[in-house]
Amino acid sequence: MIKTNKINILIVEDHALTRFGLKTALEAHDSFGEVYEAENGERCIESVIEFKPDLVIMDLGLPGINGIEATRQIKSFDEKIKVLVLTSHKNESEVWDALSAGANAYCMKDIEPDKLIHVIEDVNEGAAWLDPAVANTILKTITKNKTSKLSEDMDGNKERIQLTDRELDVLRLIVDGYSNQEISDKLIVSIHTAKAHVCNILQKLSVEDRTQAAIKALKDGIV
Ligand code: CA
Repeated sequence: MIKTNKINILIVEDHALTRFGLKTALEAHDSFGEVYEAENGERCIESVIEFKPDLVIMDLGLPGINGIEATRQIKSFDEKIKVLVLTSHKNESEVWDALSAGANAYCMKDIEPDKLIHVIEDVNEGAAWLDPAVANTILKTITKNKTSKLSEDMDGNKERIQLTDRELDVLRLIVDGYSNQEISDKLIVSIHTAKAHVCNILQKLSVEDRTQAAIKALKDGIV
């Protein structure tokens, strides 16, 4: 292996013409040193072990070991080796699989050659990169998951807190700032009963005082 400070690259691609095109484009560029080739996943792993490239350009659809499995194996061999997936697959689950296998970048094959070269340089420096064609889908899923997690949490809170209708009336009055005496007057119950309701509410909401009860009631949307 020739040691240079240039980026040594392994191209993993089963389509000979695509592989040739990529190699030609990369070899014409100053930043890149050796450009190795592998036509399938098995050859990819052998080449990674033999040449220890800085970065692997990885096709996903490969005969035998696919690109995702090959990525996983590269990363367990040496996690410092960067993997840039270059594929025509826009399928969301494949993007997730590639990223969780350790891929540092996910590019579509229709990327402009100049852009690809910039991405390779950035990824080699430690950046992560997602093609805009898939980034939006991924961001939407993350946002959706976060929102549904949040509403699950809120539903969970509501479920745990079981207030009677009467207690809900009292809680609304607490939120409005009424005292025990005012609550007993308003609901036409004894002061003793009003106090008992407030006491039960504090206990059920697991709070120390009526201010906290009011805050919790509003925050969790109980009233
Ligand atoms: Ca392929």
